Amino acid sequence: RIPVICIDGPTASGKGTVAAQVAQQLGYHFLDSGAMYRTAALAAMRAGIAIEAQHEPRLAELARHLPVRFEGGRIWLAGDDITDAIRTEEAGMNASRVSALPAVRQALVALQLGFRRLPGLVADGRDMGTVIFPAAPLKVFLTASAAVRAERRHKQLISKGISATISDLRADLEARDARDASRSASPLKAAEDALLLDNSLLTIDEAVAQVVAWWQA
Ligand code: C5P
Repeated sequence: RIPVICIDGPTASGKGTVAAQVAQQLGYHFLDSGAMYRTAALAAMRAGIAIEAQHEPRLAELARHLPVRFEGGRIWLAGDDITDAIRTEEAGMNASRVSALPAVRQALVALQLGFRRLPGLVADGRDMGTVIFPAAPLKVFLTASAAVRAERRHKQLISKGISATISDLRADLEARDARDASRSASPLKAAEDALLLDNSLLTIDEAVAQVVAWWQA
């Protein structure tokens, strides 16, 4: 069996960074499933398809044949490097909207399962432990307070030269969490057998060390 570690949690909880570092320490592959939803949303915008329930079949068709590649730390949509384009707040909100459509989620399952390769996988998302890899031997639900998450997101944006207020960012991430948690298709929630890790007061290194320690226990 190919081992899978799932790291799920709300927006800006630090999942992406922690999951990537755990993968690096263990020499495992890394799946950023949020990037897939972000890419699907961007592809829809570029194809001129509004992200609305009435277009669900077309959006699902687009997602099923999504020409996305993860290579050399960059993300490509067909020939375009979209690594930065999918990281904006707007792209996150569009990803949240497209990901609420069940047919789109279904269309991306095979692509996600394809990341499970030897020697192992660390998967980052919302439903890695509940839906995509329910048999994974280690599931972590990573959280942090809304205040801390808004501050972290703020720092990230500032470092990229993008200005935003902490209160706007907090409102955005709470709106996104509310949508992710209330949708009927794969709502954001911890798997029953997930270990909870609140990293509000931890450094990234401490959070990574905790996950690795659980894995090696
Ligand atoms: O993790 P990230 O912020 O990149 O995810 C963007 C959006 O994609 C989330 O707000 C969520 O709505 C959606 N998503 C999801 N299932 C996943 C990963 C992300 O629904 N496994």
